Amino acid sequence: MRNRSLRCHFLLLYLLVALMAGIVVPALGTWFSMKAFRAYQLQRRNDDFDNLKEALTALYEEEGGIWKHRRVMDILHPAPQWMGMKITLLDSNNRAVFTLPDPGPQMNRKGHNGRPFPPDDKKEDYEHIIIHLGRERIIGTLDIYQHIPSGRFEHSFLAYLTKYTLIGAVITIIIALWLGYIVAGRLSRPVITAIERTKQIAHGDYSTEETLTASGIRELDALTRGVGDLGRSLAGQEKLRRRLMTDVAHELRTPLTVAITQIEAIADGILEPTPERLALCVSEMQRLGGLIENVESLSRLEGENITLHPEVTDMKEFLAPVLESFAPLFEKSGINFSWTLSEKISCSIDRDQFRHVIDNLLSNAMRYTNSGGNVIVRLSGHEHNAVIEVSDTGIGISEKDLPNIFERFYRADESRARVTGGSGVGLAIAKAAVDAHGGKISAASVKGKGSCFKIVLPEV
Ligand code: ADP
Repeated sequence: MRNRSLRCHFLLLYLLVALMAGIVVPALGTWFSMKAFRAYQLQRRNDDFDNLKEALTALYEEEGGIWKHRRVMDILHPAPQWMGMKITLLDSNNRAVFTLPDPGPQMNRKGHNGRPFPPDDKKEDYEHIIIHLGRERIIGTLDIYQHIPSGRFEHSFLAYLTKYTLIGAVITIIIALWLGYIVAGRLSRPVITAIERTKQIAHGDYSTEETLTASGIRELDALTRGVGDLGRSLAGQEKLRRRLMTDVAHELRTPLTVAITQIEAIADGILEPTPERLALCVSEMQRLGGLIENVESLSRLEGENITLHPEVTDMKEFLAPVLESFAPLFEKSGINFSWTLSEKISCSIDRDQFRHVIDNLLSNAMRYTNSGGNVIVRLSGHEHNAVIEVSDTGIGISEKDLPNIFERFYRADESRARVTGGSGVGLAIAKAAVDAHGGKISAASVKGKGSCFKIVLPEV
């Protein structure tokens, strides 16, 4: 199929519709009306002949089996429908009893001008009809010549109609092309803009400023908005990717620099290799190891062939010991820690993976809540789902950061998170693990007031 522009398609379509509306529809309408009118005329004529046949037969019977010229004339003469016809009544021996003359100019009123009727050269203008009279036997015959209408009226009517149909069609086509041009312009403009925008995006230009103007057509506006959103989302992803690279590099460099500096100083004899210094080096290496482990488990969880070992687990029985193990740590930090766990809620979980998720939420709650604050854990059932909520009255997360906290290496509060030792992958790992379990994790937070992390897991 040839590749035509949207505008070209529209113009062709409108042209087709205009031709249909301006020519085809009126022409078909006229043709059908004429056909119906002719059928009606024929039907009327046949009805008239039937009535005439009936009247003449009745007359013949009334007169006792003879044709009375005068009475036949009474029936035929006054009727206007026999104008333009020559009707001859023949008796059963085929002798002419009565002739109704054609009142046309070529004959006198009685039709006795001696010339044959119809004239030989005009025979094709006349229709010859033979009607036999009588009920059981033939008592007579009507021999009729009917003038076929010349069609002059029909021709002039058709010519008139064609002329105005053509004028109408030309006007319709002009209007349709003009409308098509405008509509196609309105449709193609946003599409062209969206195409340009996608090309820009494909070339890596995610510039987020809104250049797309509304067209007033819902679907097209949704398309252009969608392209705009795509650009913005890719711009966001790109920003996160760059940030991820710098963060990973930074995370790796910090412990490495500390350890290298210490070891070099010891090697150069500047520092003594005291157990404390060596322990510091070991702890930095461990931090490095932990970070690499996090990155590994994240890529494993986000990879396609993640293998879970799920077991049907009573969630209360699973959570209670985890929470109890955290209680002394919260106490040490001066945070009030409590929980309410509903009974008989079972989910199919990989206990190890899930333990990491809960550990992460609890360590975050502890890390980002000041002494004197509260952390509450709730387990409840809702519409065949287990709902686990970890809420705190901590520092909260700003509206700007909230949508990104589940991204890898995203830290809302840079300085504090780094001081508190977070690397920004905990929530990304938690999300990947919950997703792999067919659940959902989300967060609600108000800066300065506290946060609530919610896991929804299908019950079994
Ligand atoms: P981190 O190891 O830095 O805590 P996470 O992925 O666990 O990394 O969390 C990402 C970011 O989300 C944190 O840096 C922090 O800014 C924010 N965050 C997570 N949990 C909380 C919380 N309970 N209160 C406030 N901020 C939080």
